[in-house]
Amino acid sequence: MSYSEFYNPEETFSRDAICALQTERLRKTVAHCMGSAFYRKRFADAGLSPEDIMTLDDLKKVPFTTKQDLRDTYPFGMASIPLSECTRLHSSSGTTGNPTVILHSRRDLEEWANAVARCLWMVGCRPEDVFQNTSGYGMFTGGLGFQYGAERLGMLTVPAAAGNTLRQIKFFTDFKTTVVHAIPSYAARLYEVMCERGIDPRKDTSLRILAIGAEPHSEDTRKRIEDMLGVKAYNSFGMSEMCGPGVAFECPRQEGMHIWEDYYIVEIIDPVTLEPVPDGEVGELVLTTLKREAMPLLRYRTRDLTRIIPGECPCGRHHRRIDRIKGRSDDMIILRGVNIFPIQVEQVLMQFKELASDYLITLENEGGNDGMTVEVEFTEHSLDDYSALQRLEKNITRMLRDEILVTPRVKLVPKGTLPQSEGKAVRVRDLRKQY
Ligand code: ADP
Ligand code: ZN
Repeated sequence: MSYSEFYNPEETFSRDAICALQTERLRKTVAHCMGSAFYRKRFADAGLSPEDIMTLDDLKKVPFTTKQDLRDTYPFGMASIPLSECTRLHSSSGTTGNPTVILHSRRDLEEWANAVARCLWMVGCRPEDVFQNTSGYGMFTGGLGFQYGAERLGMLTVPAAAGNTLRQIKFFTDFKTTVVHAIPSYAARLYEVMCERGIDPRKDTSLRILAIGAEPHSEDTRKRIEDMLGVKAYNSFGMSEMCGPGVAFECPRQEGMHIWEDYYIVEIIDPVTLEPVPDGEVGELVLTTLKREAMPLLRYRTRDLTRIIPGECPCGRHHRRIDRIKGRSDDMIILRGVNIFPIQVEQVLMQFKELASDYLITLENEGGNDGMTVEVEFTEHSLDDYSALQRLEKNITRMLRDEILVTPRVKLVPKGTLPQSEGKAVRVRDLRKQY
């Protein structure tokens, strides 16, 4: 069968056409927001009326929305349509605070499925593929979000859901699964368990594409997972507030994630001054939804740190690309006045082939001084003598110090020692006493 390379014509729209579409949709969205008491008050407080927002540039006049707004209006206070017209709600897992609610209309769900299908199509998924989803179904949007997208595309879907690794692997082999969605920490776990069972993913499975996302991971982690599983792994970015998966996704070039600008207006701001940063510089991602009916969000501060990758992508899509998420502004560790992101530690660790994928950063107070311990698992066969272990610990410490500017205590621990988490991996434990 021959297929077109693009799933939606909007993917290859010129920059001008994208801007024209965004302008039209922005006006509609702003008018639509007036259905919500929250936005009516926001606009009134800012002395704005919907007619003040006619161009993309006018968007700057609109105040930012934040997670706190979602919490303050919990559960239904930001709805722009009557609840009787809403067909689903999702609630964020509350990684960093109280849960929040996101409402969807029937059309919102259709658009969401389309966006996810577009992402999967972009990386080569076709109706002949067998798609297995290892995300939790339910409130976590990685479950139903990928499910409906994969169905929309027409793949045979295996809604395996989270956990039960042996069963996941049995499904891989029995159903000849070709495409998997998994978070990076779980992809590594799948490989480990396959190895324990004597299954070689390259020879004994048909896996070829992996959608990995939901948590920050480094380029080396991606490469590692690709090598382990014998797949191409594509970074997938989304969040419950923006529906879920399907916001930005890597194309086959694997040089950043195209963020779908027919669905979102993208801004990158300095999280302190709230001013825009130039293309190419890291800042906080701010998104405005352009097609959402039940709960549009204007200038939503995601708290995710990334940058626009300057230049055009050779794949033919003019939707701009964002870089790997560096972390959330609230993931940042401040240790003795130095700002550190867990991903910086991961970037160093994953360069050592002797190390496995699991690590844990612990922050403690020792005699008035804050200290950091990095525990990381080593692969059993790699280190048989004590002095080799010590040499490696020293090496890692030196490289970490160069990267994060503080000297951590590095502890190599045998594989399987660190606690496994259900869902997103826990990488940082902060045991410091707050004075
Ligand atoms: P919660 O906010 O409770 O964790 P979500 O499932 O909505 O629930 O999580 C969305 C967040 O997950 C994003 O804001 C971002 O911090 C993180 N995230 C999602 N996809 C990626 C990705 N590809 N890389 C890094 N972080 C990601
Ligand atoms: Zn591209």
